[in-house]
Amino acid sequence: MAEALIRVEHLYKSFGDTDVLKDINLTLNRNEVTAIIGPSGTGKSTLLRCLDYLTVPTRGKVTIENDTVDAESYTKADVAALRKHSAMVFQSYNLFKNKTALGNVMEPLVTVQRMPKAQAEERALKYLDVVGMTERKDFYPSKLSGGQQQRVGIARALAVEPNVLLLDEPTSALDPQLVGEVLATIRKLADMGMTMVLVTHEIHFAHDVADRIIFMDGGVVAADGTPAEVIDGRGNERLNEFLSFVN
Ligand code: ADP
Ligand code: MG
Repeated sequence: MAEALIRVEHLYKSFGDTDVLKDINLTLNRNEVTAIIGPSGTGKSTLLRCLDYLTVPTRGKVTIENDTVDAESYTKADVAALRKHSAMVFQSYNLFKNKTALGNVMEPLVTVQRMPKAQAEERALKYLDVVGMTERKDFYPSKLSGGQQQRVGIARALAVEPNVLLLDEPTSALDPQLVGEVLATIRKLADMGMTMVLVTHEIHFAHDVADRIIFMDGGVVAADGTPAEVIDGRGNERLNEFLSFVN
């Protein structure tokens, strides 16, 4: 039985005169992978960033678990409570260059969560193992491939044990031959039941791994359903146009 984890209600975001998100309403379920697809500039990253208030919406509510932030009346504590539920994986993994893989994964645990070092190390090692980076735990980012760096980025996000992992085009900065190892890691997390919201241009991967596909176009949800419904169904002209480009 599907259980709601994230709820977005009447969400709007404008940058100056540019209306980027226009009345987004979504309920996303626990243990599901939701892939957000769509042309660039349609607000996919903005929507993802509104889920953890890296971007503050203009209007509307975001709820994760039972913590709601209303853009029109909220406190710092509301945002802090919301943020505890998620962790973001960025396109450019932005690891600290002067820290090893292990040091990078430990960093948010030690500085944000104030976890004792020994405990942080134990936690970090667990998630480096999940992403298959145990053997390279003492390597600095400059000695890792882009795919390996992104796997460390994923381990860093997992290590805070969020309820949902938010991934913004995690493979789009990678050389083509490095994309597969990162997608394999994401697939493994999906198989483990990790709740994920994934912005991606990898349509075949999204079709395979996602439970649900959201097609965004022009700041609205233009199609929403299972991969079979959205990608195979091709109910909408803009979607057909988009899919013909990416396939
Ligand atoms: P996508 O991820 O789908 O490519 P984005 O959410 O990044 O789209 O951007 C949607 C629109 O919002 C674009 O027109 C972009 O230029 C604009 N935008 C995004 N972030 C900002 C910002 N910080 N300031 C001004 N405009 C922004
Ligand atoms: Mg984007």
